[in-house]
Amino acid sequence: MATLPPKSMHQGPLQITEPSPRRGRNDLRRNLVGLSRDELKTALAEAGLEPFRARQIWQWIYWHGVADFDAMTNIAKRARERLAELFVVARPEIVTEQRSVDGTRKWLLRFPDGNEAETVNIPEEDRGSVCVSSQVGCTLTCTFCHTGTQPLVRNLTPDEIVGQFMVARDSYGEWPTPTADATRMLSNIVMMGMGEPLYNFDNVVAALRIVMDDQGIALSRRRITLSTSGVVPMIPRIGEALDVNLAVSLHAVSDDVRDALVPINRKWPIAELLRACADYPGARNSRRITFEYAMLKGINDSDADARELVRILTPIHAKVNLIPFNPWPGAPYECSSNNRIHRFAEIVNDGGLSAPVRTPRGRDIAAACGQLKSESVRGRREKVAL
Ligand code: SF4
Repeated sequence: MATLPPKSMHQGPLQITEPSPRRGRNDLRRNLVGLSRDELKTALAEAGLEPFRARQIWQWIYWHGVADFDAMTNIAKRARERLAELFVVARPEIVTEQRSVDGTRKWLLRFPDGNEAETVNIPEEDRGSVCVSSQVGCTLTCTFCHTGTQPLVRNLTPDEIVGQFMVARDSYGEWPTPTADATRMLSNIVMMGMGEPLYNFDNVVAALRIVMDDQGIALSRRRITLSTSGVVPMIPRIGEALDVNLAVSLHAVSDDVRDALVPINRKWPIAELLRACADYPGARNSRRITFEYAMLKGINDSDADARELVRILTPIHAKVNLIPFNPWPGAPYECSSNNRIHRFAEIVNDGGLSAPVRTPRGRDIAAACGQLKSESVRGRREKVAL
């Protein structure tokens, strides 16, 4: 384990570069993380093990956070040996863990094929939101987003998505699963890291079903938010499959401006996007949809923009998150001034919509919204299944 210097010695962000233990490249054992309960039963049956062991193993993996079969003490020794011969319980490898002066933690994680993605935890006093990536790079090219400059390498698999949250739980020592939501340091998941989760629908659904299972990580759907840039046809499907909270990267009130900021808008313009949001389960009743709005100087931050935002969102049960733009190297935008952001927020609030201004977190370690990126590139001949 890396040892941290005493607190007084590090005023700036902290980077821990000691890597986590690595599985050898020739280790062909199957990872049990990321299998559904049924897949786990089948894998055990194929290995000649009793399928009822699946329930015990599930609890060891996801409730207790155990990665070593020897620690699964209610399983007979011979069965544990057989498990260790054929399977592993593996997380992604930690390449670096960085800690911001404001407490935000960011992990650069490496997957078995060498590709990398980032995961962030944003702690609050009594909770923490883990921002999870769904892809290495991104197909989309939102012009305010650093990830958008990294072409899609590949989709992450269910084990790689769940594994990000497990790495965060390891880092905070939050095992076994706390029995009350109030005691969780890592209380929420936001699918807002690298990638467009609705372009990796099946794997994201499989991963979040594991996270929600009440015999394991047991995070309720109320504590999970999936953020999309606006893949309209998939919005009803995510409502049916998971019914988690929905967030939308809106960032503009006219198609002209949104076409430039979030190019997927050319395919599914604002009116279509808002119709899909209005039809999202619960959106007309108690549950609010969050609309993310990055404040970009001179681009989308006028009084008229704020009034138009109120007009288009009023029919939806909506909340607006105003995000002071987080710069990254080569970014073509600047953040609006504080005065402008607060005037904008005032107009939106006066219009009857909640519009908190998000305090930037983790900027010193490039962990803030829109700043994530990894060095992974796709091989020229590789194709990505979408
Ligand atoms: S905002 Fe999301 S969808 Fe757009 S480029 Fe960035 S990661 Fe991709």
